[in-house]
Amino acid sequence: MIDQFAQRLAAWQKQHGRHELPWQRKGAYATWISEIMLQQTQVQVVIPYFEKFMQDFPTVSHLANASLDSVLSHWAGLGYYSRARNLHKAANIVVSEYNSEIPKDLDSLIQLPGIGRSTAGAILSLGFGIRGVIQDGNVRRVLSRLFCIDGDLSKADAQRTLWKLADELTPQSGSDARIHTQAMMDLGSLICRRTSPACPQCPFSNDCQALQRGEVSQFPQPKRVKQRPDERWVVLQIINEDNEVLLMQRPMSGVWGGLYTPPIGSSLSEIGKKLAIGDVLDADYQGELMHAFSHFKVHLEHYLLKIRSNDRPALGEWHSLSLFQKGLPAPIQKLLLNKDLL
Ligand code: SF4
Repeated sequence: MIDQFAQRLAAWQKQHGRHELPWQRKGAYATWISEIMLQQTQVQVVIPYFEKFMQDFPTVSHLANASLDSVLSHWAGLGYYSRARNLHKAANIVVSEYNSEIPKDLDSLIQLPGIGRSTAGAILSLGFGIRGVIQDGNVRRVLSRLFCIDGDLSKADAQRTLWKLADELTPQSGSDARIHTQAMMDLGSLICRRTSPACPQCPFSNDCQALQRGEVSQFPQPKRVKQRPDERWVVLQIINEDNEVLLMQRPMSGVWGGLYTPPIGSSLSEIGKKLAIGDVLDADYQGELMHAFSHFKVHLEHYLLKIRSNDRPALGEWHSLSLFQKGLPAPIQKLLLNKDLL
């Protein structure tokens, strides 16, 4: 084990770490929201979303009482919408089963939808100042380099090793664990970066096994992700004479679950059949947008069709876009505003 690891890390964090993030020292609820937003999303992107979210849902009760549509609309642009659905579900459980108090123990926290062991560790340590251990992407990267842990880090063996190390390195006292958690996140984010780590500025450059071996770039080893082939989706924006747009809610599971989009299908005629509208082939091509999901890319082909207000498609609801308060996926917003089309 590395000598005086926690003390050296805390000293480094005090001088070089982040102390002004808007969720710091704001309690368990703010920690929870920020941790969920920060999964898969960078700090600078998260900050404005976090601030708006906290302004509109300042407590777990506000979040539980809000409609899912409203929560999803605050998430539009962050992606991975299951995070927002789980947050909303978990907030309802906290209100109904825990008297609106976020539980302060690991076992109860990890029972809540969307909260894994690492997020629970962050809520305990950063939110409550209780001992909690984290092992997020930053920590995994730092540990895999410090101790040359190879292979796919999501596999059970590597996970056991990583959790053991993370646990052994975390101080016992709650207040020290709070500093330690933030410090591990800061070290991974500011110094031991995924690309171009700043090893000369690292407090552990004399201890790091990957650096000693000259193999920093080989850790962590990339995970093999099966890519789906690219897809082509036709997005049909239907406008009536009152300038309203036809929107449909997506199924709760799957891509953009619970958000609203214009009709989407593999072709105009497929959409026409589904909506029972005949003149769909008169739609005008507007352009195309490419959007990358984590495992595949989609080419969104945008068409526009104007119909009379008293023509009623079989599905969907008419909405005025300027008044629409529910969630639209960010690429769909771009399409509807006709921005950045290819
Ligand atoms: S020495 Fe470099 S690779 Fe090793 S932990 Fe520090 S920043 Fe990461």
